[in-house]
Amino acid sequence: MRRTRPCGALRREHAGTTVVLNGWVHRRRDLGGLIFLDLRDHAGRVQVLVEPGAADAFDVADTLRAEWVIEATGLVRERPEDQRTDDGAGAVEVVAERIEVLAAADTPPIQVAGDERASEELRMRYRYLDLRRPDRMEPLRVRHRAIKAIWDFLDAEGFLQVETPLLTLATPEGARDYLVPARVRPGTFYALPQSPQLFKQLLMAGGADRYFQIARCFRDEDLRADRQPDFTQLDLEMSFVEVDDVLELNERLLKEVTHAAVGWNIATPFPRLTHAEAIDRFGSDKPDLRFGYELSDLSDLFAGTAFRGFASALDAGGTVRALRVPSARAGDLSRKALDELEAHAKVHGAKAMAWLRRDGDGFKGPIAKFLEAETPALRDHAPEQSDLLLLIADRRAVACGALGAVRLALRDRLGLVPDDAPPAFAWVVDFPLLEQDEETGAWTYMHHPFTRPHADDLERLESDPGSVRAEAYDLVLNGFEIGGGSLRIHDRATQDRMFRALGFADAEAEERFGFFLEALRYGVPPHGGIAWGLDRLAMLLAGAPSLRDVIAFPKNVRGGDPLTGAPAPVDAAQLEELGIRLADVPEPVEPTS
Ligand code: ASP
Repeated sequence: MRRTRPCGALRREHAGTTVVLNGWVHRRRDLGGLIFLDLRDHAGRVQVLVEPGAADAFDVADTLRAEWVIEATGLVRERPEDQRTDDGAGAVEVVAERIEVLAAADTPPIQVAGDERASEELRMRYRYLDLRRPDRMEPLRVRHRAIKAIWDFLDAEGFLQVETPLLTLATPEGARDYLVPARVRPGTFYALPQSPQLFKQLLMAGGADRYFQIARCFRDEDLRADRQPDFTQLDLEMSFVEVDDVLELNERLLKEVTHAAVGWNIATPFPRLTHAEAIDRFGSDKPDLRFGYELSDLSDLFAGTAFRGFASALDAGGTVRALRVPSARAGDLSRKALDELEAHAKVHGAKAMAWLRRDGDGFKGPIAKFLEAETPALRDHAPEQSDLLLLIADRRAVACGALGAVRLALRDRLGLVPDDAPPAFAWVVDFPLLEQDEETGAWTYMHHPFTRPHADDLERLESDPGSVRAEAYDLVLNGFEIGGGSLRIHDRATQDRMFRALGFADAEAEERFGFFLEALRYGVPPHGGIAWGLDRLAMLLAGAPSLRDVIAFPKNVRGGDPLTGAPAPVDAAQLEELGIRLADVPEPVEPTS
């Protein structure tokens, strides 16, 4: 092959030269005697014209079909003014002198040219055909540019790229592990890493100072629409740093990455919200800051209310939270819409959601008549005629969380974020270190057990664990969590206290993390880091609707790979070798794809 230039790179200045092109037949049109080929490669398309006079070329062109791979040699010429198109074929065309077939193709099961009609499942099954569409390949290019910018930036900042093992011991990131049986020691298993957390901390113990990795991670979680069982993080860790150092470096990195990948010019520093503030104002620990609609706390206003629905929530230590929909948009919300929003609030844990519509000096709505005493004060929260208040009385977490979900539903329903809204990055800091399991009352970590408790709160770790803040931070973009990290515990005594607070017996901690606890005895620098969800960031940068768009060979929502058929049953002999006997083989084995 002697390709002189990609099809998509031909320009007017090449007119008059002879070129050799390689690519796929995108379309072939036979205009009785004249054959037009749209030839496509990774860079774009060009029209190849085959005239009957070009004897050999014409005979070959006559046999060509969509998706055949050919080499075409010919003379570049400008297209007549009135025939120029914007469809990629551009301002020039090539008059064929010679055409050679490099590979024939059967009729493809999904169409590459023209409208896309295939289901996503079929497109995943034939992902290599799907990727031939430029708009399908583009998200991978965005991702490539982002990763290149990460490498360049972190290299210049003195970071060392290190690969950590994939066959390893379980890491506690809160999901189920994927296990890999170890043939050489039957009955034992490797776990695939949920993150490189302990290895990156051990690299700090090893003096690496600054580490990063584009790391594959594996979490066997219940599959939701937008989750992948194997995914990619940018994982990084730094020694001798405070929270500000990590956040500042990440802001500079994101500025570079977003600019290199998609040309954004983002403003730094990003707003910082404490976790408590994020919950109180936006009802979410990953608030979408592209629009207002902040929540307010009306607990004081309703203290002593005669309305039983609110009084009982307040008596039980709960709160009353409100979300105001200004009059200009409130008119778009019919009774039916309000019912749907209430149903949405219920899905998110609320028992009910009330509404009040400002009407003259008072309010309309099913509960308005019970709130006469509060009406004057409520007017301040709904100052304009027809303003709407959505109210939930419950425990703080439930009231805020459900109203936060309603806020996002309003965003989508009312189109509150214009298409050209600038991206809204934010940090959420001061997460609680621990959260309590509602059923068992046990305390569990919010981030992971190696997160450093806030120095000011450490003394309350045993007496009031719920009040201890973590030196942890999440990175948020447009309402998505795209990263999270923390400063780490770097001394054995604090790590032991943390495990005890989590209800680990010393022996259990020793058994699971002994290798790591031991390392803490030999002088570990203070350190901290972060991991970005690289797939999600790439998705947001590419403006893609799904994570699957930025992954070359993604899994479907059932965790299956329609292309290869994984996961799949294995031979009895393979199981035997591993010393594994299946308790109950479902017959026939359900395909997952
Ligand atoms: N390892 C953590 C995670 O994967 C992030 C971090 O703390 O750096 O969520």
